[in-house]
Amino acid sequence: MALGTPSTRTDRSRTVRDLLATGKTTYSFEFWAPKTEKGERNLWNALRRVEAVAPSFVSVTYGAGGSTRAGTVKATQEIAADTTLTPVAHLTAVDHTVAELRNMIGQYADADIRNILAVRGDPPGDPMGEWVPHPQGVRYAADLVRLIKESGDFCVGVAAFPEMHPRSADWDTDIRHFVDKCRAGADYAITQMFFLPEDYLRLRDRVAARGCETPIIPEIMPVTSVRQIERFAQLSNAHFPPELKERILAVKDDPAAVRSIGIEYATEFCARLLSEGVPGLHFITLNNSTATLEIYENLGLHEQS
Ligand code: FAD
Repeated sequence: MALGTPSTRTDRSRTVRDLLATGKTTYSFEFWAPKTEKGERNLWNALRRVEAVAPSFVSVTYGAGGSTRAGTVKATQEIAADTTLTPVAHLTAVDHTVAELRNMIGQYADADIRNILAVRGDPPGDPMGEWVPHPQGVRYAADLVRLIKESGDFCVGVAAFPEMHPRSADWDTDIRHFVDKCRAGADYAITQMFFLPEDYLRLRDRVAARGCETPIIPEIMPVTSVRQIERFAQLSNAHFPPELKERILAVKDDPAAVRSIGIEYATEFCARLLSEGVPGLHFITLNNSTATLEIYENLGLHEQS
């Protein structure tokens, strides 16, 4: 389907696996489920604007970005029922028994949501604290992938880390666990945010060297304010390029100039990744689609609609 072509009910129950199998680059957007009425209005404004460019899929994070878990299920179900978008529901293992996870997976199946992004999650409160799995739960994302796959005909995505998962002892161990997760049944992966294309390319090479061909979609986080630079470091351990930081700090009192540098950087970053043959681009929107849609337009993707 060309970008911009109105979707049908059948399109909506497509899987990311099917989309990637066409060989066309996927374009997707990530949201989180809000807790307040104002947040809900923002989310729906952003979703409707994104819907107009008919992306390949949209994803909703689970218990992350201030969202509640019930909110994630509700938002994903509403997207499936009330829009032309294909939703991907994130799911984590944090504080869940296997029975609860099965119940959650069942709720997605009932709502005809066939796409789930299986991530382990981090300890609540302190993302770098000790990870203690629920005694009746699962320990790693690979276990969650197996559980979802056993539960029905789901397309399952997993997380990948261009700068290595912060808890992995070394690259070798990190890639071995990533490949195990893919072999547990993952259909594709989406990366953590990162800012240097080379980090993605190195990860892709390392995974390929292990004989794993699971498509890895890079996640794009446009920087539109000075405050975000610190926030990203806290959230993701992503290495922020010092030259970009310097350029942004040089105009820190001019929000429009900061935004323009961030959009320009992200546009060039995406263009480079596309030239390297990435399977897709996944944009973090922070529930405000303006910046990501601007990058989308800069890349000439609107014209493909
Ligand atoms: P895992 O694959 O389980 O890996 C975690 C660590 O355990 C790694 O160091 C790995 O090497 C190691 N490991 C794996 N298997 C083994 C094994 N058998 N033995 C020993 N060590 C092992 N968090 C949320 O709370 N909600 C979200 O919605 C969410 N969405 C995300 C979306 C994306 C695209 C990404 C990249 C991350 C997301 N996260 C989310 C964050 C994620 O939960 C954390 O980064 C978490 O720390 C790692 O999750 P994982 O699925 O990669 O875990």
